[in-house]
Amino acid sequence: MKVVKFGGTSLASAEQIRKVFDIVRSEPSRKVIVVSAPGKRYPEDIKVTDLLIACANQILQNEKAEKLVDAVIQRYSDIATELNLSDSIIERIYSDLVSVLNSDKSNPTKYLDAVKASGEDNTAKLLSEYFQQMGEEAHYVNPKEAGLFVSDEPGNAQVLPESYDRLFALRDRFGIVIIPGFFGYSMKGDIITFSRSGSDITGSILAAGVKADLYENFTDVDAVYSVNPSIIQHPKEIRELTYREMRELSYAGFSVFHEEALIPAFRAGIPVKIKNTNNPSAPGTKIVNERDNQNGPVIGIASDKGFCSIYVSKYLMNREIGFGRKLLHILEKFGLSYEHIPSGIDDLSIILRQKQIDREMEQTIIDIIKHELLADEVKFEHNLALIMVVGEGMRHNVGTTARAAKALAQNGINIEMINQGSSEVSMMFGVKEIDEIRAVQALYEEFFVRVLVR
Ligand code: ASP
Repeated sequence: MKVVKFGGTSLASAEQIRKVFDIVRSEPSRKVIVVSAPGKRYPEDIKVTDLLIACANQILQNEKAEKLVDAVIQRYSDIATELNLSDSIIERIYSDLVSVLNSDKSNPTKYLDAVKASGEDNTAKLLSEYFQQMGEEAHYVNPKEAGLFVSDEPGNAQVLPESYDRLFALRDRFGIVIIPGFFGYSMKGDIITFSRSGSDITGSILAAGVKADLYENFTDVDAVYSVNPSIIQHPKEIRELTYREMRELSYAGFSVFHEEALIPAFRAGIPVKIKNTNNPSAPGTKIVNERDNQNGPVIGIASDKGFCSIYVSKYLMNREIGFGRKLLHILEKFGLSYEHIPSGIDDLSIILRQKQIDREMEQTIIDIIKHELLADEVKFEHNLALIMVVGEGMRHNVGTTARAAKALAQNGINIEMINQGSSEVSMMFGVKEIDEIRAVQALYEEFFVRVLVR
């Protein structure tokens, strides 16, 4: 049995929904279907979820939101009309939307979640109506009825472990089960959404709950690419990668699959397959627990901007018990999370996401570290990019770091810092943001292009 999730672009229009239907019908094992809300039909289009967020915010500020409500309804009615669905489905969607918009606003974040979630909810209703019209035994199932319970954290729900046993019962349902992604219910019965793009998470939880053989995630690309296609044209497609490799790549910008969505599938040992709704016969990319890594040390190269580092040096730092703890405690007091800590004998750097800190906070942090830890030097460095070179094969290959460093050197790129995780699945290079693209190109050339001509 498979759990199949379709993303926003796969549900953006009637034409796309016909493709979804063909994909589901082509394999009887595709039993549990998870849907996003309609996404963009063309680059300047607005996702239904974004329209709904704007709508909720406007209403929360006591402003009228008629235009936005009309825009949302229009998206559904365009689809319904083209699919020849009866008016009753649009009436149902309209009345459900109006009732959620008129619901309790005393907790604005929960109100926002309920409005956001209606995008997925109405898409699931519309899709099941279409499947039925096409003669399929298909049913809309609400996440509460399915047993998907989550923590009471609006916009950042975490699945409650007891959900899994309840979800198992979905296996016994007759016909195709169509479930909205992106949200679950708190124990108190409130709608709570996952973080943005969270329908991937719903799919993964359901796959684990029903103990599926495979979790298929349909999107709008043929595969996970070895590098960002906007940096390298037509990069190599990845056929198979491990959960750990995927995690490392999504950390630094690979956004094909939500990073939180890996956990439920990984824990339940269910492979994930990324496929293209617009080209379903393409093999796609499979995410598995273990893979044969005979094909060289590196599977992908990712990069992300917007980092800064705090450099701290103090003579005899290595002998001072508790130095690291005290330093991290200072960051904790400011509510800052850190990413990496490359360290030397008498110095270390803490890499953080720059957007968490403003200049004033920076100066305060410098003063506190100097004063409380008696550091010799404390300074911030800005505008750093992190390049992740990822591959399980690195563990068995000698000289990967040397090859990477040489490729960067030959292109005149200064390495600001270097860090290799203990797991040896990835290597991180910190470079200046202006060097990011050239660094990725140089590394791609070294590990993917030159290999082919050798
Ligand atoms: N529609 C939601 C979003 O845009 C969730 C999803 O598409 O997965 O974030």
